[in-house]
Amino acid sequence: MLLIRNGRVLDPATKTDAVLDVLLDGERIAEVGANIDDAGDAEVFDAQGLIVAPGFIDLHCHLREPGGEMSETIETGTRSAARGGFTAVCCMPNTQPVNDNASVTRSIVDRAAAAGAVRVWPIGAASVASKGEALAEISAMKSAGIVAVSDDGKPVATARLMRQVMDYCNPLDLPVIDHCEDPSLFAGGVMREGPNSLKLGLQGIPAASESICVGRDIEMALLTGARLHIAHLSTAGSLAYVRAAKRNRLRVTCEVTPHHFTLTDEDVRYDAHYKMNPPLASRSDRDALIAGLADGSVDAIATDHAPHHAASKDVEFDRAPFGVLGFETALALGLTELVDAGKLSLARLVELFTTGPARVLGIERKIGAGEVADLTIFSTDHQWTYRAADSPSKSRNTPFDSRSFRGAPMATIVAGTIVYRR
Ligand SMILES: [Zn+2]
Repeated sequence: MLLIRNGRVLDPATKTDAVLDVLLDGERIAEVGANIDDAGDAEVFDAQGLIVAPGFIDLHCHLREPGGEMSETIETGTRSAARGGFTAVCCMPNTQPVNDNASVTRSIVDRAAAAGAVRVWPIGAASVASKGEALAEISAMKSAGIVAVSDDGKPVATARLMRQVMDYCNPLDLPVIDHCEDPSLFAGGVMREGPNSLKLGLQGIPAASESICVGRDIEMALLTGARLHIAHLSTAGSLAYVRAAKRNRLRVTCEVTPHHFTLTDEDVRYDAHYKMNPPLASRSDRDALIAGLADGSVDAIATDHAPHHAASKDVEFDRAPFGVLGFETALALGLTELVDAGKLSLARLVELFTTGPARVLGIERKIGAGEVADLTIFSTDHQWTYRAADSPSKSRNTPFDSRSFRGAPMATIVAGTIVYRR
């Protein structure tokens, strides 16, 4: 038993915001209340001055196992996730081999059970090898434990294939997650097209590359009635499509990454730590994303944690792979860039890490008797400096190295066990 004393319980699902005790008994929450009497049986965690939230869920990460163990493993990635306050992470299928069949799904689930610091919920490929041709074994993968499908790394190749994927996923009640871009517009680009790409002499990717595909996918969601989730949404145009879809009561959701609400294309320099896909957007796009996070148009903050070992990133900008680390700076960036900046409330930020992503997956996350004992305990004023070199991740590709923050995860609890404590 674990008794969390005197924390400020902030639970968007139950609209709780009060100083309370939370008693965990094994994998479940036993009781939530003021001054719980545990008869001295439980280990006590003093949470005075800290926020006690439902366990954070990350809808989008790359753990690189199987096949990319030079950059990350399920063990190292989930330890990094625990440090970031995440109790469950959804890993994208673009491993080697691609997670497009039940045996790969099972191997990920088994490896996570043996070595994972937090829960790992695999996402299965939509098409075989994510090649955009034949449908993957979606139903068998669902039985093996996938929570969604995606060809992330690239878009579902055609509208026709998207229709097939959605028709297949609809009766299985699986969300289809799409990495939206138009390959003909993306073609060879490395950063957002605009004055800054011209200045740097780097090939640009127009914002429309993303929003065209978002529009296509929403048309398919309208046609099929399936659940559609837009990964790493980064432009005002994409957000306008999602808003319209929500107004029309389609089952369309979206996520935004911390680097997209923090940085813009003005921050890009000849340093591959600023190279990600989708690329950092213009300032007006970034401001639109923040407005969407605040007003409920955006459902979740997702990290798109994308580790790449040093040798692969330490090359010219054009040749470097896309992607940055995300777990350990996500909450701190949210607190600094959104809450402290007065853009959204602390309760809304917590929602974007908890009940928001849970809803996308069709599950519930809340703090109450009988619920799973997954909790994220964090401080809003702990001062610290992020040092990528100290990360349990195998990779160091982040634009936020050496950045100082106010606010941090202090303890991550999964199934009643403290898996990380600052
Ligand atoms: Zn992606």
